[in-house]
Amino acid sequence: MWSGHTLSWNTPLDMRIKEAAALYEARTGRSVDSDEEEIESRTPYHKLPHPSDRPAIKYTDAETPVQTAIYTDGSKTPNGVGAAWVYIREGVEVKKKKIKLASYCTVYQAELAALRSATEYARTLKGEEVNIYSDSKASLEAITHSRSCNPQVVKIRRAIGEAEKRGQKINLHWLKAHIGTPGNERADELAKEAAEKLKTKPEYDKRPLSEVKRKIRERTLEAWQTRYTHSQTGAKTKEFLPDIKVAYKTVKDKMFEEHTVQVITGHGAFAEYLHRFKLKDDAACPCDQITPQTSTHMLLECPIMGLSRYDFEIQTGKTMTSAEMPTILKDSRLQLERFCKEIVRKTRKMNGSGSGSRDVQPTVARP
Ligand SMILES: [Zn+2]
Repeated sequence: MWSGHTLSWNTPLDMRIKEAAALYEARTGRSVDSDEEEIESRTPYHKLPHPSDRPAIKYTDAETPVQTAIYTDGSKTPNGVGAAWVYIREGVEVKKKKIKLASYCTVYQAELAALRSATEYARTLKGEEVNIYSDSKASLEAITHSRSCNPQVVKIRRAIGEAEKRGQKINLHWLKAHIGTPGNERADELAKEAAEKLKTKPEYDKRPLSEVKRKIRERTLEAWQTRYTHSQTGAKTKEFLPDIKVAYKTVKDKMFEEHTVQVITGHGAFAEYLHRFKLKDDAACPCDQITPQTSTHMLLECPIMGLSRYDFEIQTGKTMTSAEMPTILKDSRLQLERFCKEIVRKTRKMNGSGSGSRDVQPTVARP
């Protein structure tokens, strides 16, 4: 068999090591680029309050909002990220706050920023019982978890715990968004204003770890692409999958079948390939006895494959060209695998290497 040529779509080992190192640095809060803003790293466990000192925080699903409450909201629009809260007392707006976040922040970070600022304000309302509303279930859930290491959550929990110690009650409520609750609508409007109109320096600019991870991955793929483009091997594969990002996305979930790998790499019982390794006198394809029989020829043009190719194109609605190949690999994999199986079967038959191909173990230079 041709097992020696199985396409490896794993990230090269050295790049994977570099990536793991970068991720580790990111998790501990060290930035990928020294000049970048700080990463929103997790609060270390030893910095959390002692378990016996952690308040039990719950939130309730609000049916009818009360007349006196703080409403919070976060907003991410194409123009920016913002958060806000509004304090409504007996139906009258008495205080509001808009918070600008860096454009790369997530809406979740914005929701938490609103809750954090609202909680801090609530503590100044001494002696009162304060109700805070949010439409972010994810944020409220996180706040109930005593082991949460999200730095904003830790701060919110601390503020609520300290208020409780002084005998003040801060109650959290979840409110369904966009159902016309005036306080919630107002907070939403203010958060959007903060996102789009506030021109101040962001009050919160910690980079979300998810974004840092994405960036690290992006960089690995870029480095991989450079190596892929400049390497001497895999010329055929590059013909079909010139973009490593596409290639990676296409194959990362599932390995290709052996037949497909042979066609994509060109390492198979193709006359031109066998001829190159002096295993066959003639490189030409029997269809015209002139054109070298490469895998590309079989896949894209050889009339011997005409009927199978026609079937493929009818089934998929796609034209078998090298330009279409990335899309075909992505969306019409089953049909492609069937077609490749047919190519391998036919070429083996015409090149008389049926199962005899197992003696063919050419060495391929590594970059
Ligand atoms: Zn041919």
